[in-house]
Amino acid sequence: MMNHTPLKHTPVKFAIVGGGAAGMFAAAVAAERNIPCLVLERKARLGSKVLMTANGRCNFTKDLSADQFLADVGPAAKFVAQAVRECPPRKIIAGFKSLGVPLRRMPDGRIFPADGKATTVVHAFGDLLRDSEVPIATNCPVTGIQPVKNGFIVATRNFTVWAENVLLATGGASYPKLGSVGDGQNFAHALGHRIVPLRPGLIGLETSDRRVTDRAGARFEDARATVFAPDGATLFVYRGEVDCESFGLSGAAVYNCQRYIEHAGLREYEIEVWLGKERLRFSNLKPRPLKEAIVTIGGVALDEVDSSTMESRIVPGLYFAGEVLDIDGPTGGYNLTLAFATARRAVESVAAKN
Ligand SMILES: Cc1cc2nc3c(=O)[nH]c(=O)nc-3n(C[C@H](O)[C@H](O)[C@H](O)COP(=O)(O)OP(=O)(O)OC[C@H]3O[C@@H](n4cnc5c(N)ncnc54)[C@H](O)[C@@H]3O)c2cc1C
Repeated sequence: MMNHTPLKHTPVKFAIVGGGAAGMFAAAVAAERNIPCLVLERKARLGSKVLMTANGRCNFTKDLSADQFLADVGPAAKFVAQAVRECPPRKIIAGFKSLGVPLRRMPDGRIFPADGKATTVVHAFGDLLRDSEVPIATNCPVTGIQPVKNGFIVATRNFTVWAENVLLATGGASYPKLGSVGDGQNFAHALGHRIVPLRPGLIGLETSDRRVTDRAGARFEDARATVFAPDGATLFVYRGEVDCESFGLSGAAVYNCQRYIEHAGLREYEIEVWLGKERLRFSNLKPRPLKEAIVTIGGVALDEVDSSTMESRIVPGLYFAGEVLDIDGPTGGYNLTLAFATARRAVESVAAKN
């Protein structure tokens, strides 16, 4: 009989915690770079949130130059600049084409899979990772990350691994049923990182005004929303869709205004929307809760992460990508692009170390 001495921890070069947009992309790049990795994903399948994007159609990038993309991103632009220049929208578009995913470009540059199905995008990753024989553990929430000499013990309920490098790609804290519950921010905090408070981004605004609620379900595609300061100065304008809901207002134009208001920390403001020919103006509307947000504003503070490597400045060997970081963009494919680009930067840094 063979004498099996069980290893206490399975050794892995690179543990990717979270198999969403950033985690799948990171695993694909790791496979390309021949970095042995293991993906640990809480949910039963990869990319649960990606499947929900753009109402299941997945607007995964916008056909813009890196410069224009960065100009649109807002506060996180400086931090993500190197990552985005290295992995700009056009490289992402070319990458999906090379995976055999036919694409559709909207007149404003937003890119979708041609069949309008987010499953096509997630399957493309799944096929690539299967063909590259990347090990993936699903139904496998990571419960703790402990730094040890030359690496980390990554714990799950069923097993532990010893990982030389760890990528936290656990997402934000919106739509927790899709797996992103803020674990990565908690792990990072426990490891000494500062967390910028998590708030809703790209979310509807509440009003009980019957001119809105009586029209619940109505969509105004070429509408405009404007944010004004209390003194009447125009602060932000966005042309795009405005939708009426039973709770108030939604749609891309409202979402981008809400994101502007949140980043600017405005407590006193007015917002004007056009519903067809009718102009409505409101003061200080409350956003819907974080759990319903398209993106999480806040996360791992950027000054403690090296933007040229995505590595922690506090814990060497710990990397971050995607919404776990305090990065977010407007609607229109920016947030998936940010997840992909930061994931690539992190993996390239791990590759460069070896
Ligand atoms: C309704 C909706 C529509 C959207 N539409 C668009 C769009 O059209 N275009 C766009 O660009 N962006 C869109 N977004 C935003 C985009 O989906 C996110 O910004 C993007 O998915 C973030 O990628 P991520 O990898 O950081 O996080 P996620 O994709 O959320 O992935 C994080 C993964 O980590 C896993 N995880 C979390 N904790 C653990 C743990 N402890 N152990 C193991 N695994 C864990 C989660 O289960 C999840 O699979 C949308 C978001 C929502 C909610």
